[in-house]
Amino acid sequence: MLGLMQGRPLLISTLIEHAAKCHPAAEIVSRTSEGPVHRCTYGDIHRRSKQLANALTALGVSPGDRIASLAWNGFRHMEMYFGVSGTGAVLHTINPRLFPEQIEYIANHAEDQYLFFDLGFLPLIEKLAPALKTIKGFVLMTDRAHMPADGTLDLICYEDLINAHSSDYDWPTFDENTASSLCYTSGTTGNPKGVLYSHRSSLLHAMLTCSVDGLALGTAETALLIVPMFHVNAWGMPYAGAMCGAKLVMPGPALDGASVYALMRDEKVTLALGVPTVWLMLFGHVDANRLVPKTDLVLRRVVIGGSSAPRAMSERFETNFGAFVIHAWGMTEMSPLGTVCNLLPKHRDFTLEQRLDIQAKQGRAVFGVDMCIKDDDGKLLPNDGKAFGHLMVRGPWIVESYYRGEGGEILDADGYFDTGDVATIDPDGYMQITDRSKDVIKSGGEWISSIDLENAAVGHPAVAEAAVIGAAHAKWQERPLMIVVKKANQELSKEDLLKFLDGKIAKWWMPDDVVFVTELPHTATGKLQKMKLREQFKDHRLPTDA
Ligand code: ADP
Repeated sequence: MLGLMQGRPLLISTLIEHAAKCHPAAEIVSRTSEGPVHRCTYGDIHRRSKQLANALTALGVSPGDRIASLAWNGFRHMEMYFGVSGTGAVLHTINPRLFPEQIEYIANHAEDQYLFFDLGFLPLIEKLAPALKTIKGFVLMTDRAHMPADGTLDLICYEDLINAHSSDYDWPTFDENTASSLCYTSGTTGNPKGVLYSHRSSLLHAMLTCSVDGLALGTAETALLIVPMFHVNAWGMPYAGAMCGAKLVMPGPALDGASVYALMRDEKVTLALGVPTVWLMLFGHVDANRLVPKTDLVLRRVVIGGSSAPRAMSERFETNFGAFVIHAWGMTEMSPLGTVCNLLPKHRDFTLEQRLDIQAKQGRAVFGVDMCIKDDDGKLLPNDGKAFGHLMVRGPWIVESYYRGEGGEILDADGYFDTGDVATIDPDGYMQITDRSKDVIKSGGEWISSIDLENAAVGHPAVAEAAVIGAAHAKWQERPLMIVVKKANQELSKEDLLKFLDGKIAKWWMPDDVVFVTELPHTATGKLQKMKLREQFKDHRLPTDA
């Protein structure tokens, strides 16, 4: 027997319709590529996304067509989130930090029809254009006054394009499983692979983002999206924002500490979201200018994900900013939300030190994410906080297969997707990543977590960044080699650092060697490139290896 409730589909257009009806005056504030700060409302985004929908229809864009964006966080990009997907077309957000050859590859692989881009990317697009086989038109996301006087490309001006059309548009109704947006994984190995989100997966994910044990986004929040809209839809925040009417603040291309701090202060940001690297730049700015964030800002919570939030970072936000760090974990293949580190009643009386130990974990699975750990043979491992294994997930906003079947069958017999992460899960359900499966150090049949060692090392006041890789060892197969970038003007020896680590990590995890470098290689999304490091140090002889 079927239920007798309305089967209205979960469509992205319903989000912006709701926002326009229920919180039309809530603001979207953007620092623009052109320079000034721009202010508009959900009402404006609603109206203009409908103009865009009419414009796309006039250009001949059909449902299912891929429309690409190469843009920072800003109001026009947000209009595309609703205006493109709302028509039934697919928004393909491209990460501009990828190598040009990768951008060329994914735009051709996706067969993008139009490419919308920010002013700053004009030189890149002019170079790439001849290789982008399927693009019918290039749209510069700016107004007439900022259009280049000359150039090699025939460009469409975004403001001219949408202003030629009315905002009368009826969003079409279609199956909620229709594709809405496309995002390629950064591809540290092999070609990038496309993750194709649906209207349904995006809406369910947004609901969880707004739930209290999700990210508790709500009408009363002012959220600063440092996390880019070209990377997993800015963790789904533009959708969640429209759902609850939160004020959104978009930093555009200016991610330096001074710009981010000014936006936090001027816009009275209560919640900020980003990867650890941007927060290090923010701390640098605060230190250099002797600022007092606790009095300047009203920041209450910071969501950190993308890589592990070091304990020292959570502590600094707490003591220096008066802000609670919500550690979260996910990935492009998961839309991205998987776990959120919220506290339980039993943690209420914890000291700060004890609480920071909890916050160092990636958190508990939100409803919708069914998560477990398995060993190499696919056998379930216990949630005892000690056993670590391959972290497996399944759920309605988790990938079933990659775009165009790249990578073949990616789910196991139970329907789980292997995240490529290695983790423990404790009896309370808190998951803690111990490594990427390819980065784990295999020492005499036991696993050593490179991430735990890195986190311990960055707790030293003279360490800016640390990476740990497995170096060949005749007796143990692999032993940890720690590669460290010192903070400017700081002295630090191998002996000092090893002494500092003593007592903070298991004795047999102690790195066999420490080397100092001036910088570490990173991917386009700011993650350490351990493959490069392994290549660079493949001939490194450990002093313990006879
Ligand atoms: P994103 O960086 O947006 O989360 P990616 O798909 O680029 O998405 O990368 C996902 C990977 O990033 C995860 O599989 C995991 O290895 C790593 N990651 C994400 N969040 C965390 C976290 N809080 N702690 C440690 N690693 C994380």
